[in-house]
Amino acid sequence: MASIFTMIVQGEIPSYKVAEDENFYAFLDINPIVEGHTLVIPKKEIDYIFDMPDNELAAFSIFAKKVALAIQKSVPCKRIGECVMGLEVPHAHIHLIPLNNEGDMNFRKEKLQLSPEQMKEIATRIAANFTHK
Ligand code: AMP
Repeated sequence: MASIFTMIVQGEIPSYKVAEDENFYAFLDINPIVEGHTLVIPKKEIDYIFDMPDNELAAFSIFAKKVALAIQKSVPCKRIGECVMGLEVPHAHIHLIPLNNEGDMNFRKEKLQLSPEQMKEIATRIAANFTHK
């Protein structure tokens, strides 16, 4: 059975899309720990990020960098933090998290409650700042 993230890539489950290219897709985490919390995934389904071949992992990392730069322009923050867990969804993904202080990278804190309109607005803002270069 396809992973929930593959279903997102295929448009079977909606997402707040931020960016995509031929191989990768970025969208807002549905349970954001901070505004702009974004997930970046390979379109090809692979469970564990560190099982990715070197060339694909390198390209994935470069795509995540482009998304991070777009988030940085869109959300007030000092820098973007990057985190890999994958304990919940068995489809490789990188969490990109706008940081203003150390406590912002805390997955145990209460999640933000954002309306669909707010999520859409954040995704649109980041997408407008995304560039493939
Ligand atoms: P983990 O696998 O531990 O890195 O956590 C998976 C992350 O995916 C969590 O932060 C969830 O909030 C997020 N997530 C799960 N389902 C969706 C979805 N349908 N759309 C966006 N984010 C999701």
